Amino acid sequence: MQTSFISSVTEEHVQRAAAILNDGGLVAFPTETVYGLGALATNETAVKKIFAAKGRPSDNPLIIHIADFSEVTRYAREIPPIAERLAEEFWGGPLTMIFKKQPSVPDAVTAGLDTVAIRLPSHPIAYRLIKAAGSGIAAPSANTSGRPSPTTAADVLADMEGKIEMILDGGTSEHGVESTVLDLTSSTPRILRPGAVSLEMLLPFLPDCTYASANHCDKPACPGMKYTHYAPDAKVFAVKTLSVLDVNRLTENDPDAGILALSVEESGYRAAHLLSAGKTAADYAACLFSYLREADRRGIRTLYAVLPSPDGIGTAVINRLTKAAGGDIL
Ligand code: AMP
Ligand code: MG
Repeated sequence: MQTSFISSVTEEHVQRAAAILNDGGLVAFPTETVYGLGALATNETAVKKIFAAKGRPSDNPLIIHIADFSEVTRYAREIPPIAERLAEEFWGGPLTMIFKKQPSVPDAVTAGLDTVAIRLPSHPIAYRLIKAAGSGIAAPSANTSGRPSPTTAADVLADMEGKIEMILDGGTSEHGVESTVLDLTSSTPRILRPGAVSLEMLLPFLPDCTYASANHCDKPACPGMKYTHYAPDAKVFAVKTLSVLDVNRLTENDPDAGILALSVEESGYRAAHLLSAGKTAADYAACLFSYLREADRRGIRTLYAVLPSPDGIGTAVINRLTKAAGGDIL
């Protein structure tokens, strides 16, 4: 299959992309979190193509992207009143809410669960595409399963060329990590996946909200958690407690070692490859996945990724790096 790569997206391109979706094809599109790989949410055959293109296990559900809060009831039922308040505050934006699903939502979208994940993105191209398609778009991240999520259209092309009909280029993703996944079907609200909308931001609206701890992540609340995620070819170690000196000792004399950290040089880190994650946790989130891909292009074999502090979006960075490291924390 020929993949059309659209670099300056016009209204005509959006219409073409919407037609592809309505014909049962796949389109990768930019969002403010990462790039999504979309199919029409109501077309089960098309949704199944997403799993084939990504090599994604069929028990890992997708998120339905909508363009207006009123569309929630098309896919979800028993919507708690707080959902509208959260939507006013955080939509369009990087918050996914989990509700009970409507029977009409295809099983392929929800991986057979009786719940459905819904989000309203803020990226203008995503919004226009959903509007033009006239239906919700089911989408996971547009990477090959297990690889770092794509934050540029070039990253999508690297993984999806020849496998999907079209890629819409909307620049570099603003947040760089996937949406916060908030379960509103459990007895108390739980964050299943940390993202740019942090626990601190949700607490004023949901005083009893907590992170779902790994122990609480048995089926079916946290599908997808058991799979390897975000892994580059390089071996990643997440550095939590090791001192700068100790990390430098590990990278000394190793031409294929790299260190990724906030203000990496100013902090005194030394390695053949120094990757600066910027100054803030938000900077770190925005460059994290592109650095994991960059590490492979540079031939880095061992990457020490120094964790930021565990608050705000830092929690999301820690979550992704811990997974990229396969749980190897130093
Ligand atoms: P991705 O953004 O590529 O990671 O794919 C969507 C993610 O949304 C999945 O990995 C799940 O973690 C989450 N998700 C989608 N639907 C549900 C659901 N019904 N319950 C819990 N999590 C979900
Ligand atoms: Mg993903």
